[in-house]
Amino acid sequence: MFEQELSQLEKKHLFRKLAIVESAQGPRVTANGKSVLLMCSNNYLGLAEHPALREAACSAMKRYGFGSGASRLVSGTSELHQELERRLAQFKGAEAALLFNSGYSANTGIIPAVASEGDMIVSDSLNHASIIDGCRLSKAAVHVYQHKNVGHAESILKKCMNARRRLIVTDGVFSMDGDIAPIPDLVSLAEKYDAVLMVDDAHSTGVLGKQGRGTVEHFGLEGRVHIQMGTLSKALGSSGGYATANKNVIDYLINTSRSFIYSTSLPPAVCAASIAALDILQTDPDLRKRLWKNRNRFVNGLESLDIDIGDSETPIVPIIIGESQKTLKAANHLFDLGLYATAIRPPTVAEGRARIRTTVMATHTDEDIDQAIEIFGMLKREGYIL
Ligand SMILES: *Cc1c(COP(=O)(O)O)cnc(C)c1O
Repeated sequence: MFEQELSQLEKKHLFRKLAIVESAQGPRVTANGKSVLLMCSNNYLGLAEHPALREAACSAMKRYGFGSGASRLVSGTSELHQELERRLAQFKGAEAALLFNSGYSANTGIIPAVASEGDMIVSDSLNHASIIDGCRLSKAAVHVYQHKNVGHAESILKKCMNARRRLIVTDGVFSMDGDIAPIPDLVSLAEKYDAVLMVDDAHSTGVLGKQGRGTVEHFGLEGRVHIQMGTLSKALGSSGGYATANKNVIDYLINTSRSFIYSTSLPPAVCAASIAALDILQTDPDLRKRLWKNRNRFVNGLESLDIDIGDSETPIVPIIIGESQKTLKAANHLFDLGLYATAIRPPTVAEGRARIRTTVMATHTDEDIDQAIEIFGMLKREGYIL
């Protein structure tokens, strides 16, 4: 039944395959049976394989077992869920926090709860798919503004002042380009037009800000972003999503957010690992320093090779190639040369904007980074990259 569609995807070089990883998400992994330098994991700080997280998860498992047994409003709220929410609220400087089972289910649960019939949503054109799906699930009128174009967002808001509620939603760091949203201007816009501002800090938590608290700390806008959403699955090396906001918003989500209400809660061991990750984040700023040092070393190397990295400002460094076929060829060649970074193609990115999306981790050594630069240099000389 799906053969034709599948062969169409193949023909357009958009067919996707799973690579099997047989080791922890360290700087080097075994993938499809080959040992390679890993440059596409979101495990920015190396916490996914950190001994403290392993320990915390094991001892929680010994005490609580594995599965949580029920949804949060039934019997699935352990003391570890409560503790983690308390810690997240404190970390983000908010009154309260709420856990979701993933970042994806946070966005698809928060947005339809906050914006519904008679409301409007103003959303950046490069927002993550989970935000787009959250918008699709909501009964609000959805308006997309040009990427980071606050003037465009304002012109939309001006025309929608009769909406019951207005929600502005943006990625804090854009997941495929690694650029940072204009949060200060969006805060002013939200204040001027009496809108709710929601920022998705999936790629900024643990990465941006002096204490790694994300974009709000990065811009010094504490208390002025209404809903901070994030995930525990990236820099925190664990799993699960969350929202932080004032207590009313969180109580409202507990009562109305469908992905929160109708899904079994995270295993307590996952909460324990997340708490351990927050402990490390708050006591070891060196990890974040190493991440940025590696990121800058890598970007300097690519720039000296005259390789196009778009508007990257963070450890997400896209190598923009353009056509899907060329990008796929480049990714396959990279893998043969011992570097693992995936080809990102439409619909994840726009037509003609296919890329190798690389990410840098704190656990990469200088030698790892230099090897990656050398490999990209070879690709460039061989004509795989413009
Ligand atoms: C990864 C990501 C998510 C989803 O988080 P998961 O925990 O992986 O489900 C949401 N938003 C953005 C911007 C992301 O990059």
